[in-house]
This record gives sequence, structure tokens and C-alpha cells, in this order.
Amino acid sequence: MRLILLGPPGAGKGTQAQHIVQRHGIVQLSTGDMLRAAVKAGTPVGLKAKDIMAAGGLVPDEIVVGIIADRIEEPDARNGFILDGFPRTVPQAAALDKLLKSKGLTLDAVIELRVNEGALLRRVETRIAEMKARGEAVRADDTPEVLSQRLANYRAQTEPLIDYYGEKRKLATIDGMKAIEEVTADIKRVLDALGDSAAKIRSRAARKPAAKKTKASKGAKKAVKAASAGRTGKKAGKKAKVAKKTVKKAAKKAVKKVAPKRAGAKKAKKSAKPAAKKAKTAVRKGAKKASRASSRPAKKVTKTRAKTARRLTKRG
Ligand code: ADP
Repeated sequence: MRLILLGPPGAGKGTQAQHIVQRHGIVQLSTGDMLRAAVKAGTPVGLKAKDIMAAGGLVPDEIVVGIIADRIEEPDARNGFILDGFPRTVPQAAALDKLLKSKGLTLDAVIELRVNEGALLRRVETRIAEMKARGEAVRADDTPEVLSQRLANYRAQTEPLIDYYGEKRKLATIDGMKAIEEVTADIKRVLDALGDSAAKIRSRAARKPAAKKTKASKGAKKAVKAASAGRTGKKAGKKAKVAKKTVKKAAKKAVKKVAPKRAGAKKAKKSAKPAAKKAKTAVRKGAKKASRASSRPAKKVTKTRAKTARRLTKRG
């Protein structure tokens, strides 16, 4: 099982990741932990990341992508992993897609822990107090000032991933404001449902070896395609294509008329002109319609997204 845990600092990703690790026997890959280890060890990556992290900034994408690419190669990640703190930006998510694809791996789900911001500061303050009480070193970025920077980064850079994975029908949103055990139970329900549907697909595939693609996966792909292109955009695009064909035909006709008799060429050209002009206008109109339609907000995207969220959370 390969999962991503998404949520702002203090949402409880680390706590929930540990439960998932125990239940599913997969490893937790936290870029925050890895970077802190690198800082502590004084590696070249650590030296680059140290000040950025202390200020609540984001370490450059290529560094974290490199770390994750190496880490998922290790034997303990073969059974699956849960990514905590990665991806944090859309380019990181795109790099992860590419990485997984190149290894023939797929992502099972992205679990978003949704919390209200007012609670986050209180949670981090409690975390600091508890760490101090245990005599542990407090993270350099666990201060109210740096936390607000981390939150701002989350909103600006990471929150777009909610739409990114919603469109890919991978997102399950969980209410992170509930008690820890309740959140754990909600996540468990989502993951169990995922396991069930995977098992169903496997058994269906075993029964019908010829049918490579299930109806559901085809339907999902179609829906996502329709949502991102916009049905109307597609229609207009088709019209433009037809119009383009007409131009080609008219041009051919003109050539034909010109070709047989050099002497009558002028006449032929003249008669072909209006047809070509008409077809060209049709193309322009079609193209305009297509571009207008594609720049219109795709209403279906929101619908599809809402449907996915409902589907995943309902299961959960
Ligand atoms: P948080 O509690 O804010 O989720 P993490 O332990 O995940 O903190 O990360 C701590 C810091 O490490 C971040 O504020 C950031 O500076 C850096 N970091 C961790 N993961 C990433 C990432 N995927 N991309 C860029 N920077 C990262």
C-alpha cells in the first residue's frame, strides 16, 4: 500500500502515520524527519536545509525529491510506504507521479487531515510543552512565529495538492479535529474500503483475464477527462476540426481545377476562392468557440471532485 498523508503542521500526520505503519506493515517516510537527521549529521543536504527549516521555509524541490527517490528504493519500502510531509508542492507531486510511474508503482490514496487553524497553534504549544517535560530537545521551528510561516507555506504551496489529487480521484478527506482514536478509526475505514475494492478488482480480473480495464477505471478516466477538458470545449473543438477539413477539401478542389488546364487557371482559382474563404471563417469561428469554452471554468471539475470526496469518505 502506498499512501500520502496531507495536512498542515500539527494536523496529526505523524501520530496517524504510526498507527497505519503498525496496521499495514509499511514504512513511514517523513521528509521532515529525514531532513532533521541530515541537519544533525551535518551532511551536505543538511547544511543546505538547516537555515531554511529553522525559518519555516521550504527546502528546494530537487533536494526532497532526490531524498524520496533514494529512500523508496530501499528494501523496507518494497511492501509499501506512507509519505508524511511529501509532496509539499505541485512540482513535488508531479515528480512523485513520474517516479512511481518509472517504477511501475501506483499510489493507493491521499489522506487529507482537515483541521481548523485555531487549533493548530494550541496543538503545537502542547507538543512543545510535552517535549520539554520529557526533557527532549524542542524543534528549532516549533515557535509561534515560525509556525505561522509554516502555515502560510502550507496554504500557498501545499493546499493546491488537495485539488491535484481530487482530480486524480485519490483524495480522502478526514476530519482531523476529532479525538486521535476516532481519526484513526476513520482512516482505517477508508483504507479497509480501499483494500476491499482492490480485492474485488483482483478477483474480477482473475475471472475475466481478457478484460484489462474495469468499467470503473474506464469510467473514472472518462470523467476526469471530461472534467478537465469541459464537454463544451470538446464539442467546439470537433466543429473546428470539421471546418478545417472543409478548408482542405476546398483547397484540393481549387488545385484540381487549376491543374488540368493551365490556361483556365485564373478562372478556376477565382471560383475556388469563395469556397475556401467560407471554410476559413468556419475554422476561425470553431477555434474561437473552443478557446472560449476551454477558458470557461469547468463546472464538472467541482462536481467530480465533490463526488470523489463523498465516495471515498462514505466508504470510510
Ligand atoms: P510540519 O510539522 O511542519 O509538517 P515537517 O517535520 O514535515 O514539519 O517538516 C519540517 C520542515 O522540513 C519544513 O518546515 C520544511 O522546512 C522541511 N521540509 C519537510 N518536508 C519538505 C518537503 N517535502 N519540501 C520542502 N521542505 C520540506
